[in-house]
Amino acid sequence: MDSIKWYFPEMLDEVPGLLKENLIPHSGGTGLLMGDLSRKKGLIDLGHLPLKYVKTTDDSTEIGAMATYADVVRELGEIRPNLVLVSALGKAASTPLRNRITVGGSIAFAPIWSDIIGPLVALDAEITLIGAISGKYPVAGYIKDSGLKKQTLITSIEFAAKNWQSYYHRHIRTKFDFPAFTITILISKESNLIDDARIVITGNTNRFARLTDIEEMLTDKTIGEIEIGGIGENLDIKFAGKKQTSPEYLRYLVGVELERGLREILKD
Ligand SMILES: Cc1cc2nc3c(=O)[nH]c(=O)nc-3n(C[C@H](O)[C@H](O)[C@H](O)COP(=O)(O)OP(=O)(O)OC[C@H]3O[C@@H](n4cnc5c(N)ncnc54)[C@H](O)[C@@H]3O)c2cc1C
Repeated sequence: MDSIKWYFPEMLDEVPGLLKENLIPHSGGTGLLMGDLSRKKGLIDLGHLPLKYVKTTDDSTEIGAMATYADVVRELGEIRPNLVLVSALGKAASTPLRNRITVGGSIAFAPIWSDIIGPLVALDAEITLIGAISGKYPVAGYIKDSGLKKQTLITSIEFAAKNWQSYYHRHIRTKFDFPAFTITILISKESNLIDDARIVITGNTNRFARLTDIEEMLTDKTIGEIEIGGIGENLDIKFAGKKQTSPEYLRYLVGVELERGLREILKD
């Protein structure tokens, strides 16, 4: 095996040329280094680029692609402790891994057990890309469009600030386990009236599912008008079988946990 050549750009305008040569971005390395690197021509270490930051204004939050899960939990945890990203990323993987796993690498990699994709899709987050394609794109579109991934680099993630109430569930058997699925629920209320709702399930065969029917059913209702029992039945989401768990049983569990989450978030 030839040795892998590393590149260490310090300015963003050096990156498109490197991507054009089919060199591969390396962020935390936690996903990349589990795979086969023998055919990779070279790796671009993103660690010297100015992409490790978390910025907030009254209207929005922007996170640099090289911010780690731990950076996000620490920095946003102080300013927006109720933000769903804080609770989701704070429970992901383990402490040493959260110090390495980056936001940009995790959106690009988007494994089925991801703790970041559900919250970002629910928040309608957008990424900024440079390289063969540049501009802002919804995270939801990027994950499903392989054309956006070729020779591009995610530089940042942005989402609007809103006073969401949030609920996050990761379905694990032991504390350090890949979640079989995750549930993100965001609710915005004006006194007792729900004016916006977002529900995203991950872990299914389509990477994520936004439950727009249920979102619409909740919107413009007062809490007292909502009948939660039965909402989780007959969800139109497909799961692949996992060790000791059939797809049907996983879908049943999602339904149970979804109703539990709705009861929790609507209990006030
Ligand atoms: C044991 C273990 C347990 C884990 N558990 C969880 C968990 O519970 N929840 C969870 O959410 N995650 C978990 N992870 C992390 C997840 O599996 C991925 O490893 C991680 O999200 C990849 O992020 P990274 O920064 O390490 O990216 P890297 O490994 O550096 O890169 C991953 C891919 O993204 C590309 N890439 C990197 N940065 C960019 C960029 N800025 N723009 C475009 N492409 C880019 C790379 O070329 C590569 O293809 C776990 C990882 C391990 C090893």
